[in-house]
Amino acid sequence: MEHFDLIVVGAGPSGASAAFHAAEGGLKTAILEKEFLPRYKICGGGLVYRGRKMLPFDISEAVEREFDTVDIYFTGTDIHMQPKRDKPIISMVMRDVFDQKLVSEAEKRGVQVIQGQGITGIDFQENIIVETTEGKYSAKYVIAADGVFSPTAKLTGWDKETRRLIPALEYEVKVNDADFERLSKEVRFDVDFVKDGYAWSFPKNGHLSLGVGTLRKQKINLKEIYANYVKFLGIEEVLEEKAYGYQIPLSPRTDGLVRKNVILTGDAAGFADPLTAEGISNSIYSGRLAGEAVVEAHNSNQEVEPIYEHKLSEKLLPELKTVDFLQNLFINKQKIRMFFIKKTGNRYGEYMTDIFMGDKSYPKDLVKTLKKKIKDAVLPF
Ligand SMILES: Cc1cc2nc3c(=O)[nH]c(=O)nc-3n(C[C@H](O)[C@H](O)[C@H](O)COP(=O)(O)OP(=O)(O)OC[C@H]3O[C@@H](n4cnc5c(N)ncnc54)[C@H](O)[C@@H]3O)c2cc1C
Repeated sequence: MEHFDLIVVGAGPSGASAAFHAAEGGLKTAILEKEFLPRYKICGGGLVYRGRKMLPFDISEAVEREFDTVDIYFTGTDIHMQPKRDKPIISMVMRDVFDQKLVSEAEKRGVQVIQGQGITGIDFQENIIVETTEGKYSAKYVIAADGVFSPTAKLTGWDKETRRLIPALEYEVKVNDADFERLSKEVRFDVDFVKDGYAWSFPKNGHLSLGVGTLRKQKINLKEIYANYVKFLGIEEVLEEKAYGYQIPLSPRTDGLVRKNVILTGDAAGFADPLTAEGISNSIYSGRLAGEAVVEAHNSNQEVEPIYEHKLSEKLLPELKTVDFLQNLFINKQKIRMFFIKKTGNRYGEYMTDIFMGDKSYPKDLVKTLKKKIKDAVLPF
C-alpha cells in the first residue's frame, strides 16, 4: 500500500491549493479525485480578483473573459451600480479548465494525482487508511476538499449537518448571435430577481452561464424564476441549454473542522461567502491554510487542530462572522438594505468591489459598530 504524508481528497480549488502548499512545504502529497480531469463542475465560474491574486502563479490561459467593470442591478428599482477598476474585478472561467490548471501547478511541485478513484472508506489505524473504488492508500493526514457533500467528512463522523446550505441553479446556455453579442458585453448581477438572492449572467466563450440562487433556505421555484430571467434578459431564442442544480454552504460547520488528523477545507468546511455565495476565493485560501497547517504539524510533531484553528481565526472565521451578520441585515431585511443603499449611494457598491479586489476585507469590528449604531438609532436616549 502506497504511503503519503498527506492525501487530499478532491481536485477542486481547495484541494489543489492545499496540495500545492503542502508539496511546497516538502510533504509527500497525493490528490485523490473521483472523476477524470478535466471534469465539469457546477459553478458560475466567476473568479473575483481577490481569489485570482491569491494564486502564486498565472492562470490567464484558463480565463475565457475578463471584466474590469461589473453591472449590479437591483430589481424593481432604477439602481444600477457599475464599479470599475484597472484590473479584472471578475474573470470568467470554466471550472473544468480552471481546476485542471490549478492541479497541474500542484503536480509541478511533485503532487501525485490519482484520478478516477472516489473515496469509499476510511480506517483509523496507526496511519489513516483511505479506501477507494480501486484500492487502498495510507497517510498521516487527510484533507477533505471533496466539496459540499464531502464523503470524507461523512466517513470520518461528521454526520450532523451544521452548515447552512442553499440551493442554486446553473445553466450553460447558447443563444443566437445577436443576443450573445448584446449580453456578452457585461457581467451582470440582478439582486432581488430571486427573493433573498440574485440572478447572474456570466458571458463565456460562445455561451452564457446563467444562474439563480437564493441566500436563504426557503420554499422557492428556482426553475420558474430562471425561465423568467431568460425572458427578462430579452433572450429571443435558446439554442442549447444544459441545466444543473447544486448546493452552496454559506456557514462554517459548528462541530469542529479537524478530527483524527482529517482536516476540512473549502465547501466541505462551509467557507463560501454568505453575502455573495462566492466560494472559489475562500476555497483557495482555506486550502492554503490547511496545507500549511499540516506542514507545520508534521515538521514540529504537534497536533494539527490548534494550528489550523489558529490560522482560521486570524482572518477567515472572523470575516465570515461579519459577513453572516451583514447577510442577516441586508438579505433577510430588504427594506433596511435598500434604505442603506439609497443613503450611501455608490459607496456600498464600491466597498463590495474593494472586497472583491482583495483591497479591503470585511472589517472585524463591523458587527459591534453596526449593532451600536442600530441601538443608538432605535434608543437615542
Ligand atoms: C450554481 C453554483 C454557482 C456558483 N458560482 C460561483 C461563482 O461564480 N464564483 C464562485 O467563487 N463560487 C461559485 N460557486 C461556489 C463554488 O463553486 C464552490 O464554493 C467551490 O467550487 C468549492 O470548492 P471546493 O474545492 O471546496 O470543492 P469543489 O469545487 O466542489 O471540488 C470538490 C472535488 O471533490 C471531488 N469529489 C467528490 N466526491 C469525491 C470522492 N468520493 N472521492 C474523491 N473525490 C471526490 C469532486 O469531483 C470535485 O472535483 C457556485 C456554486 C454553485 C452551486
